[in-house]
Amino acid sequence: MKRLLCICLAGLLAIALVGCGTIAPEEAHESVQTFAMDTVMIFSAYGEGGTKATLAAEAEVQRLDALLSRTREDSEISRVNATTGAPTRVDPEVAGLIEESLAVHSATGGYFDITLAPVSDAWGFTKDAHRVPSQSELDALLGIVGMERMSWGNGEITLSPGMAVDLGAIAKGYASDRVADIFRMNDIPSGMVSLGGNVWVCGGKPDGTPWRVAIQDPKQSDGYAGVLSLRDCFAVTSGGYQRFFEENGKTYHHIIDPATGYPAESGLTSVTVVSAESGALCDALSTALFVMGEEKALDFWRSGPYDIELVLVTADDRVVVTDGLRDVFEEMGESGYTYEIVR
Ligand code: AMP
Ligand code: MG
Repeated sequence: MKRLLCICLAGLLAIALVGCGTIAPEEAHESVQTFAMDTVMIFSAYGEGGTKATLAAEAEVQRLDALLSRTREDSEISRVNATTGAPTRVDPEVAGLIEESLAVHSATGGYFDITLAPVSDAWGFTKDAHRVPSQSELDALLGIVGMERMSWGNGEITLSPGMAVDLGAIAKGYASDRVADIFRMNDIPSGMVSLGGNVWVCGGKPDGTPWRVAIQDPKQSDGYAGVLSLRDCFAVTSGGYQRFFEENGKTYHHIIDPATGYPAESGLTSVTVVSAESGALCDALSTALFVMGEEKALDFWRSGPYDIELVLVTADDRVVVTDGLRDVFEEMGESGYTYEIVR
């Protein structure tokens, strides 16, 4: 019988932040917690504008949830997905995300694909009704999905019958970008935003030291694989442990390999992407690089077009940290991992 093992509702890095002994949200000048995009979100802000900024942040993520949700029938995404076979004009904000998704799809050689929605549905991840689809079912779905099959131009999308888009791998990162804008507009000197595995730290801590962002150990929910000391940075983690089910002793997670239609088995158990630039980009890339696996992810980091740094946790108990994080990454003693810095 199928057994739901875990639906991760809470922000992994947020838990870690508190667990790592950084300031607890309740000690912050202002802290708001809300539930949106299927996850717990926390906004903490110091300074005079803290109340205004955190309340505006909450309203903004709820607005984005209503726009981008795949499961809410009244969302823009649901409207787009209901209009197959003919071009339909898309809300400009959604259009921007589709264009960014196309760019990441192309830059990653197709590992990032927002049209995998029918495949995720077949695995029951969309409605938490998990099942293992048959090979013939997956083969049929792989014949209709793929961003190269959707047509896009002048703000209009055309999806063939059976196709659907899902911005779940980029939406929380995009929301963190919007919240960062709100914090900046309100001159917040110090703060922290955690949207279920998507973290943005604003400035440093009020005492002037960097924020400490912990990376969850994919093997144990109360352990850490490492800690990053960051200022003004996005850090986004994708991991197979975040949403999964078990059937007949095998574990199936929610990040799909577009080549097979199966949960990606790349030898990685989590990927954290760090960048000062864009939460949406970190979010999309953490998903794509998880599917790519260690070797291709590191090649992408070395030669790719983006200014990012990575922490890769592997199934054979290594934590691989890219050189740009050398001075801000802290190993966890007795975690059972061996640590490598790569260039
Ligand atoms: P994340 O948690 O950001 O890694 O995103 C995972 C979510 O994105 C899943 O729950 C799916 O809705 C969707 N997804 C799964 N696999 C992919 C993929 N290869 N490319 C883009 N989106 C994906
Ligand atoms: Mg993602």
